[in-house]
Amino acid sequence: MYGNTPSSRETRKRLDAVVVGAGFGGMYMVHKLREMGLSILGIEAGSDVGGVWYWNRYPGARCDLMCIDYSYSFNEDIQQEWTWSEQFAAQPEILEYAKFVATKLKLREHFLFDTRVVRANWDDDQNVWIIETDRSEIFEATYCIMATGPLSKPKDPEIPGLDEFEGELYRAAKWPHTPVDFAGKRVGLIGTGSTGIQIVPVVAKQAKELCVFQRTPSYSMPMRNDKLDADYVAEIKRNYEGLRAAARNSALGGVRPSTTRPYFSLPPGQRRAVLEDCWKQGGHAVLGAFSDILTNPEANEQVAEFAREKISEIVKDPETAEALKPRGYPIFARRPCLDSGYYEAFNEPHVRLVDCLKEPIDRITETGLQTRDQHYDLDALILATGYDGLTGALLSFEITGRNGRKLSDKWKDGARSYLGLVMADFPNLFMICGPNGPAALSNIVTLDEQNVNWICDLITHMQDHELVTMEATQSAEDAWMETVFELAGRTLLAKANTWYVGANVEGKSRGLFMYTGGYLNYSNACEAAARSGYSGLSFAKQTEPA
Ligand code: NAP
Repeated sequence: MYGNTPSSRETRKRLDAVVVGAGFGGMYMVHKLREMGLSILGIEAGSDVGGVWYWNRYPGARCDLMCIDYSYSFNEDIQQEWTWSEQFAAQPEILEYAKFVATKLKLREHFLFDTRVVRANWDDDQNVWIIETDRSEIFEATYCIMATGPLSKPKDPEIPGLDEFEGELYRAAKWPHTPVDFAGKRVGLIGTGSTGIQIVPVVAKQAKELCVFQRTPSYSMPMRNDKLDADYVAEIKRNYEGLRAAARNSALGGVRPSTTRPYFSLPPGQRRAVLEDCWKQGGHAVLGAFSDILTNPEANEQVAEFAREKISEIVKDPETAEALKPRGYPIFARRPCLDSGYYEAFNEPHVRLVDCLKEPIDRITETGLQTRDQHYDLDALILATGYDGLTGALLSFEITGRNGRKLSDKWKDGARSYLGLVMADFPNLFMICGPNGPAALSNIVTLDEQNVNWICDLITHMQDHELVTMEATQSAEDAWMETVFELAGRTLLAKANTWYVGANVEGKSRGLFMYTGGYLNYSNACEAAARSGYSGLSFAKQTEPA
């Protein structure tokens, strides 16, 4: 199967585990496996740790989860030594944090950087994964752990002429490592999801002109970020234990506000007061204002109308305000955006919204962008056009399991796995934040830690019982997917054309394949799976030589 690969069997390095990816999941995985005494290798395409925060250096890049959630809880020294400067940290600070952790835990020595995995094949005879990189190195490993991230395969728009543009072309997800100066330039931006919404106010401050090409408007709420003063940081550090416990016991894996109060349990005036208060608080407070925003279409529409009214309150030009108002899909069915001056930017005379629903983009030209109605001359064009989410990274290289079964074949009608962690026919392969877990809807660092701990407990179980392989049983995988689909049917999340449902990638099978039952229920399900003696997995012992 791998006989024509460049290195001979003798020169291949044999390891207990290979971890693909040096984001938060991969870093913690490498740390834990090393603590367990396993020989490990991490492989990462970037030049350093950080994952999504290594690549996404675009102006305004910032985490829309608070740092007290979006940080590791497993190491008390890290919690106490690292000090966040803002409630919602910007990309440079988060990347520094990742580097700080890597240095403190001496993780880099286990990683091969600037290296991509191009193939991972299971060898049925040897019970090992054969992992080949773009540097023609081959590794053999008992366990292969994919920490490739749910949003790591960026997607260009399907607009003709992209290669013809002679101005400066920037992709949000592959931003240059040196500062970009937009002063005096006519800048175009395509894409108004979380990324585009963060870019607009920052580039608007520099550019001579900014044209925002919007196809589907997003709902955005004010972030209302705060600097953290020393006294508050000291309070956080004293109380981390309780804050982390609260995060682990929540539906989101974080300390965001939530409630059990349904929308229509309050009279109209009080509902409005709650929403106004949440809008003033900022962050995701509106999302947590009522318990049924994502399940009751009538409640959802009233909250959506509230958000639309807010756009009219901020944006002075009525036509622009109208074009910015999302319609035709439920609020929060697309990822809720948090902004710092997005709508306000459209009050600047040099910032212009182009409504591509009315004036579709025809093509990109050498000098700018041609819509149905006119040509926009541009010196620079920024693409914030999203990702092939959840499955993109794992399907971007060849993964072959038992009996030559390709992952691309297994997932041709959509991703399937057991708990989002393991799969039938793919022995000893683990996914961190896999497509059938709650990754897109929870605090991913809490989920990373939970996934890694679960995987390590399972490997320990295998070692204790001299088990050499494990994989999900077909029935456990099918039952998990039934749960996923049953829960998906209860939410409004599938009612928008988003990366959540694969609608943004041509030809991708469409549907809600992710777990929508919330972080706590998910982690309880994983715990129950372990407590049952891993009854959803089949194991094999080392066979004695004949
Ligand atoms: P996205 O939400 O998928 O948005 C992509 C945007 O590009 C959409 O507005 C889309 O319009 C537009 N687009 C794509 N192709 C186009 C075309 N041919 N013509 C015109 N417009 C086109 O991607 P994203 O903004 O990068 O966000 C992806 C996810 O990353 C978020 O949902 C979030 O989970 C994560 N993220 C998180 C943070 C954070 O703060 N933690 C920040 C940024 C991103 P249509 O909708 O009409 O296709």
